[in-house]
Amino acid sequence: MKVPFFDLNAQNESIKEELLAGIQAVLDCSAFAGGPFVEAFEDNFARFCQCDHAVGVGTGTAALWMALLGLGVGPGDEVITVPNTFIATAEAITFCGARPVFVDIDEQSYNMDPALLEAAITDKTKAIVPVHLYGQPCDMDPILAIAKRWGLYVVEDACQAHDAEYRGKRAGSMGDAGCFSFYPGKNLGAWGEAGAVVTNNTELADRMRMFRDHGQDKKYYHSMVGWNARMDGIQGAILTIKLKYLPQWTEARRENAKLYQERLDPEGSVIAPIEMAYAKHVYHVYAVRAKNRDALLTGLRDREIFCGIHYPVPLHLQEAYASMGLGPASFPVAEQCAKEILSLPMFPELPSQQIDFVCHAVNACLTEQLTH
Ligand SMILES: *Cc1c(COP(=O)(O)O)cnc(C)c1O
Repeated sequence: MKVPFFDLNAQNESIKEELLAGIQAVLDCSAFAGGPFVEAFEDNFARFCQCDHAVGVGTGTAALWMALLGLGVGPGDEVITVPNTFIATAEAITFCGARPVFVDIDEQSYNMDPALLEAAITDKTKAIVPVHLYGQPCDMDPILAIAKRWGLYVVEDACQAHDAEYRGKRAGSMGDAGCFSFYPGKNLGAWGEAGAVVTNNTELADRMRMFRDHGQDKKYYHSMVGWNARMDGIQGAILTIKLKYLPQWTEARRENAKLYQERLDPEGSVIAPIEMAYAKHVYHVYAVRAKNRDALLTGLRDREIFCGIHYPVPLHLQEAYASMGLGPASFPVAEQCAKEILSLPMFPELPSQQIDFVCHAVNACLTEQLTH
């Protein structure tokens, strides 16, 4: 049985007619760059995230960059985040002219360890970017309390956490801004690239709206130097339609996670994800941990089960950030996890027989490892 890591076809096929009609509507009025379909999506997505505003942009990376710029992060500032994230989190900080500062993660949630946060704060610190990795929200209460005590902004990287919740609050709604990616493979994915920032700060929303459109409030009248970071009209239309289905896709992911949890190695030599008591995890990635990860990955590939590693190299050990001068052992938990994590196939339409097959294979590989 071949098990793909991810399959977009199943989802696209199920609502293809509706999505094509959505594109046709954009075509009929040539509203390709920004425009009414983007605005309609912004209204829906803001409401979905329990926020006053959503600002649609071209990518999740641009969303992070614009939120930080909009809050005034710039040269000389430090922004605290984690090393076990997609590089876009740090790139956005760097592209503001600021310096990323990393703190290590908690071993259970794989998210920012709030207990380590205060030690990383200096008089240059301007903001904290907690990353809701894999779809599980960070422990936001202590993070928000520390931010408040030190007068720091909080920008949530919710690029993997659409529909996730922390103590009943939507991911992205708790900080000064929440940033989302609608890259096709995300839990809410466009038919191309797209992103958004949600916020309750009207002034920030206005500034980001202006910035994404060359700093103009009226065509060809530019009150600031901005950028072109608009969302495509077609993506607005696609995302408005797909947003209606997101809750049921989330439920399907959570159901799949439950099946994995029940059927994975009862001996405990593979660590399944832990849904924290405060969290509704949306399992963008289903990452398990195993001591002999590379052998497990090979064993599964031999059985035509395709997995991923999110992410194999923590950011402080990437060549791109070599200038930070942080060597191995700087962030022991993140580094250990990078060596042990393995992302099993996960998408809403993943059939339960395939989950069974994967679990049997994982357990068989681990037994083989023990006996050889
Ligand atoms: C996907 C992702 C991003 C970047 O989003 P793009 O739309 O690909 O630019 C940023 N942060 C995290 C954690 C992501 O997973």
